[in-house]
This record gives sequence, structure tokens and C-alpha cells, in this order.
Amino acid sequence: MDTTNLNCVIIGASHAGANCAMELRKQGWEGTIVLIDADENLPYHRPPLSKAYLTLAEGGALNPLFAAERYEEENITLALGVTVTGADVTTKTLELSNGTSLKYDVLVLATGASAFVPPILGISNSGNVQVLRSSKDALAIQAAFKNAKNKKVVVIGGGYIGLETAASLQKLGGQVTILEREERILARVAPMELAHFFQELHTKNGVTVKTAVSAKKITQTEDGLLVLGTDENVYEADLVLIGVGVRPNVALGEQLGAALENGIKVNAHLQTSIPQIYAIGDVAQFHHPNYNRWMRLESVQNSVDQAKVVAANITGIPTTYNALPWFWSDQFHIKLQMVGLSHGYTDLVIRIEQEKEDCFSIWYFKDDSLLAVDAVNNGKAFVLGTKFIKNNTVVDKEKLADASIPFKPNTLIKSTTNVN
Ligand SMILES: Cc1cc2nc3c(=O)[nH]c(=O)nc-3n(C[C@H](O)[C@H](O)[C@H](O)COP(=O)(O)OP(=O)(O)OC[C@H]3O[C@@H](n4cnc5c(N)ncnc54)[C@H](O)[C@@H]3O)c2cc1C
Repeated sequence: MDTTNLNCVIIGASHAGANCAMELRKQGWEGTIVLIDADENLPYHRPPLSKAYLTLAEGGALNPLFAAERYEEENITLALGVTVTGADVTTKTLELSNGTSLKYDVLVLATGASAFVPPILGISNSGNVQVLRSSKDALAIQAAFKNAKNKKVVVIGGGYIGLETAASLQKLGGQVTILEREERILARVAPMELAHFFQELHTKNGVTVKTAVSAKKITQTEDGLLVLGTDENVYEADLVLIGVGVRPNVALGEQLGAALENGIKVNAHLQTSIPQIYAIGDVAQFHHPNYNRWMRLESVQNSVDQAKVVAANITGIPTTYNALPWFWSDQFHIKLQMVGLSHGYTDLVIRIEQEKEDCFSIWYFKDDSLLAVDAVNNGKAFVLGTKFIKNNTVVDKEKLADASIPFKPNTLIKSTTNVN
């Protein structure tokens, strides 16, 4: 396919967009590539923002996805600190916040997601209420924490972002309280066993975890913030962190007329309902063939793998998306690695490694089929689980549960039905 005179514009220069630009060159795109982002920083890794980055004394350097020279070498035009404010599908024109407009032949929407702020009474009148999505947010949290008199933090939401931020600020000497609306933390994404482990981990490290409690009202006082919970307790805070999930940034997709449904809907080639417009990463709602389910995944793996697939399709190599999802989380001394999706599991096996503290794995099965593995401080379980899922290996559950049996493929496999 001759792409020499074509212009590909990518909106969003985070994990999905920046990787897409690089992949386009790798896969032979000869035309221009313009990568636009409202964020003025050189595109950077987001996971450290709630982990190592937050524990740095002040500021700290962001971890760039690619060095600045790489964009030059690959002849990728970076437009940073520029927001795409409008889009017209008939003229294939984008309006930019710097007053210019830009034509595209192929458009990639990698606009990601934004932190959701729930309508808690008084929230908009209270200072030092933060979300955490960008480096700007992380810097604001660092500054608020540094200036806090009592270092009291209330985290609203016991999901991964909330828990990671709680761990980081507690490590810095904070007095952190997590308020979680559900009966347990990680209610949407983890089984009871894992949620219980993380709740204990946080409690042992001095974090107060309150479940079945929502924030009803936030009041700003001269001394800080007061958060009224549905348990009628008042929680004092210098800083409130909201970590209750995200909403996909669909505004441009909507303006262009693309089909939407919990994100921008894409087909197996990651193409929206409009030819020449694709959507990838956190913003894209796609059908996963292996799980036979529509989903939107919020992970680095998904963004990077979708970037590769979309670049292939744009350069004329028809490719479909069916990557195995994986994700990680760091909290205190714990590294959690997850592979596969456990949705619809019928039973699970917990394997606790002998003589190793805080080292175990949870294996999710649908009958005999291994769906997913959550590995806690256990890289071996993560690697093995990934291999087993990819190869459709039938694992002997009884042997798996018995930690005296070595953790090796030949001791655990019943059969391998299909090698992908
Ligand atoms: C604090 C934190 C910790 C995380 N930890 C992990 C982890 O441990 N493991 C993991 O796998 N994932 C983690 N994630 C999730 C992961 O970072 C996201 O899945 C990933 O960033 C999604 O990439 P994306 O490119 O699709 O979207 P985003 O990263 O959301 O980027 C979208 C970009 O589009 C830009 N944009 C949107 N609209 C416009 C517009 N109109 N004009 C110009 N620019 C626009 C935004 O400025 C933004 O930079 C974490 C996320 C956060 C915030």
C-alpha cells in the first residue's frame, strides 16, 4: 500500500497513541504522522504515578515512553500541550486549541479515560480534593501532602489506584484512611481471598480501611477537610484522593459520529463504525474473541498490543486483536501480577508457597479450563500461568494446590489441548 502522501493523525500520546506512532513506522507507514496530546510533557509511563513516583520527595523525573530523539528519528511530529477541540468527519478536519486546523486521511483516537469524580455534596467547594490520572495530578498530590499539617489523607475508593496511592502516602508517613462503598475492597476486580489479603496488608501497615462506607459530604474548614461517611463518622483530612474509577474520553468520537457503548466501539480490526477512524487503549470498547465478550480494558498491555494491531491494519496488513490480558499492581512490599480474566470462573485453587512469606497464587478455572492467575510475589506462577493459558493446558488442580509438589509444567500438566 502506498502511504507516501497520506497523513495519519493520532489523538492522545500516552501508552496507546505513542506506541501506535512508533509501530506505524516499524510497519512501513511512509506518510506523515502527527501525535497530539493536551498534556505538555513528553509522553510518559502512568503506572509509576501511584507507585514509585509518588514516594519521591518532590517532583521527580517522569519516565518517558520514548526518548525525544526517537520521535525525531522516526519523523513523528509531536504536538504537545495541544487539545483537539473539534472534529468534522465530512471534511476530515480537526480543530486544535492553538487556533489551527489539521486534515487527516487516517485518524486514531487514543484519547484514553479520565478519572471519575462522584457528585459528593460539597466536593466542588473543597480544596485539596485530587484525582490521579496524569503527572499534573501526581504533582498536585505531592504538593498537598508536603504542605499538609497532619498528613491525614482520606482515599475514597478501594480499587487498585486507591490502594496503591494509600500505600505510597502511608509509606511517606501519612495517616491514611480508605473509604470503600462496597462490602470489601477490590469488589469489582478480585475474589474475596485476594481482597482480604490486601485489606490485611494495608491494616498491618497502618492504613485504616473502612468498608461499606461511602463519602456523603465534604466540608472545607480552616483546618482542612471533613469527610462525612454514610456510617455517620467524620473523617479529618488534609487531602482527599478520589479513586473510584474512570470514564472513557469519547467526546471526539461522538462528535465524529462513531458508534459508542461504554467507550468507542471498534471491530476486530479496532476500526470504529467510521472507515479510516480507529480507536485503541482505554477508550476502545472491543469484542474479545477468546472471552466472547465486549470489554474495555484499562491496562498498559492492552494499549500497547492494540497499538501494534491498529498500526498493522492502517498499513494494509489485516490483523485482528486477541491478546491475553495482563496487569500488575505494587503495594508496600507486594507485587501482584495478573494474567487472563477470571470472569465466569466456577472454581479457584489457592497455592501457598511453603516457607516463603506473602508468596501465593490464585488460579481461576471454568470447569477444567484455566481462565486466569493472580500471582502475589510469585513471578514463577505468573509465567507458568501465562504459558498454561496460552497453550490451553489442562492443569491438575489437586497437584497445583499441593505446594510440596514442585512448581513445574511436567508435574502439573494433565494435557495440552491446543498450542496457540
Ligand atoms: C496512576 C495510574 C496507575 C496505573 N497503574 C497501572 C498498572 O500498574 N498496570 C497497568 O497495566 N496499567 C496501569 N494503569 C492504567 C494505564 O496507565 C492505562 O491503561 C493507560 O495509560 C491507557 O493508555 P491510553 O493511551 O489508552 O490512555 P491515557 O493514558 O488515558 O491517555 C490518553 C491521552 O489522550 C489525551 N487526550 C484526550 N483527549 C484529548 C484531546 N481532545 N486532545 C488532545 N489530547 C487528548 C490525554 O491528555 C491523555 O494523555 C495506571 C493508570 C494510572 C492513572
